[in-house]
Amino acid sequence: MMCLTIPVQVKGFNETGKPLVQSIGTTNLFAVDNSLVPDIKIDDWLLCISGLVLKKIPPEDALEIIDFLKFSNIVTERRVSEKFSKTIRNAHSGALTRDEIIYLLNTEGSEAATLYEEALLTRQMNIRDFICIHGVIEFSNYCSNDCLYCGLRAQNQSLKRYRMAKEEIIEAVFKATAKGYKLLVLQSGEDMNYDKELLGEIIKTIKSKARVFIFLSIGERGYEIYKELKNAGASGILLRFETSDPELFKRLHEKGKDLKNRLEHLNFLKTLGYFIATGFLVGLPGQTLEILASDILTTVRLAPEMVSVGPYIPSMELEAEKRERLMELTLKVISILRLLLKRTRIPISTALDTIDPENGRKMALRAGANALMFILTPEKYRSLYSLYPNRYFQESDPWERYGLFKYERSYDMLEERLQKEI
Ligand code: SAH
Ligand code: SF4
Repeated sequence: MMCLTIPVQVKGFNETGKPLVQSIGTTNLFAVDNSLVPDIKIDDWLLCISGLVLKKIPPEDALEIIDFLKFSNIVTERRVSEKFSKTIRNAHSGALTRDEIIYLLNTEGSEAATLYEEALLTRQMNIRDFICIHGVIEFSNYCSNDCLYCGLRAQNQSLKRYRMAKEEIIEAVFKATAKGYKLLVLQSGEDMNYDKELLGEIIKTIKSKARVFIFLSIGERGYEIYKELKNAGASGILLRFETSDPELFKRLHEKGKDLKNRLEHLNFLKTLGYFIATGFLVGLPGQTLEILASDILTTVRLAPEMVSVGPYIPSMELEAEKRERLMELTLKVISILRLLLKRTRIPISTALDTIDPENGRKMALRAGANALMFILTPEKYRSLYSLYPNRYFQESDPWERYGLFKYERSYDMLEERLQKEI
């Protein structure tokens, strides 16, 4: 085996005559033992291992190695402040105050990059490098609600509406399970047409024929229906609280909807034994960093099995600069959530893919996310499910083709993990 060690430069000598050396990108000096290489001068470049000098090397070789390592991202010339380091340490220990979260949301440059790296490391240490691939089937775009941010809101009369029949939904589910999907979200607007009997029948048929976790994302439908659907075999619910600020929630939702009712839903869904996927929108109009920090703390408090966060996409095209800022803010939110919820599934929302189709996904995985949610809605309906404009979609994605989720065993693994997490 051969190891590459980072060259250090001699900056002085301590009181016992030992060389004081500095590693690239740091300001700290540390003493090394040079008993094997006695002839050392200031500015010399050394290779050391565990504090022992092994070799003196020419400066051009040292710079070449450093250059190579920098290029490979093994060493960086990054400087972070004491305050930043302390805040990251606190995050690792699982608790951050609202002010600390706001501080991290404000980080820039090398500190923001370090935040993403810490989150990536946390993901790798706690859930390794698995990326989970889930699917969503959007079975109806009818909605009786009027969330101001959403293209499916009842007031949007220009939208052509559709409802998938029971058989169509079941067929779409089996098409997905045949490809290997083990967790599917069935999503719709708040559409009362699908009552507990109809949804119950759909779920029962699916569960009698396929080993697949069904998550429902059908809005606030009350205790009774959710109780029935749990008995029918549904495993989880995807329901974002959207914002933790009661005033902002009221402003964004009409028809007497309030945050209290949404949170009550999340609480009783938990007591019914559902796995919970919840979270919020990043970048809503009127959302301050204080509110965003509360959104993060509320998510942590709810301790969901899956986190669902994504950028808010307005109906008007976003300018490049605003898109970039929204992307960064969403990445920071993902990283902070990863540091605080070390083992929780954090899927990348389609909205994030939409604001940066080229790199969004890669950046989010590098910032601590660990799951993908693919749209499996039949093609003829896909464009009608327009929560926001220009939704990202990619056909025959290589992620899907090469996904390691095809085997029976992966269902058992998922079951074990989900069980452990509640
Ligand atoms: N009706 C259900 C499920 C469908 S909406 C519900 O409301 O829970 C699914 C999600 O789409 C919502 O939770 C919301 O956060 C998101 N969404 C709606 N409009 C959006 C927009 N303009 N940009 C980004 N996400 C949006
Ligand atoms: Fe309907 Fe959900 Fe859109 Fe609100 S967010 S309008 S409930 S589809």
